[in-house]
Amino acid sequence: MDCVFCKIVSGEIPAQVVYEDTVSMAFKDANPATPVHLLVVPKKHADSLADTGDLTEAELGHLLKVAAHVATDAGVGDNFRLLINTGEGAGQSVFHLHVHVLGGKRMGRLIG
Ligand code: 5GP
Ligand code: ZN
Repeated sequence: MDCVFCKIVSGEIPAQVVYEDTVSMAFKDANPATPVHLLVVPKKHADSLADTGDLTEAELGHLLKVAAHVATDAGVGDNFRLLINTGEGAGQSVFHLHVHVLGGKRMGRLIG
């Protein structure tokens, strides 16, 4: 499968990895939108949050725990935003499920 995040997980293409365990990996976004911009991915491929394949609920929940952990390690543990773009129409461009961890600058409310 020609998936850029699978290739990062396998080490085939390089990334600035900040965290790794048996289920997940976190690395710096190549085109950061905020001073801290990390991506948390499951090591197992899943297309998106709309098609999570054989990921378990525990594995999905683990991604959130890792997101908070890497935000804290990056020094933004008190103020960060998670984003999961799902589907092309919502801005998803890489079809391997990933959680954006955004922080390091003041962010306005998106809704409400
Ligand atoms: P999406 O638009 O799918 O929500 O987010 C994909 C993200 O992956 C983008 O923010 C983009 O900058 C990042 N990205 C795309 N290709 C690579 C890559 O090869 N390495 C890294 N580190 N990030 C990438
Ligand atoms: Zn993949």
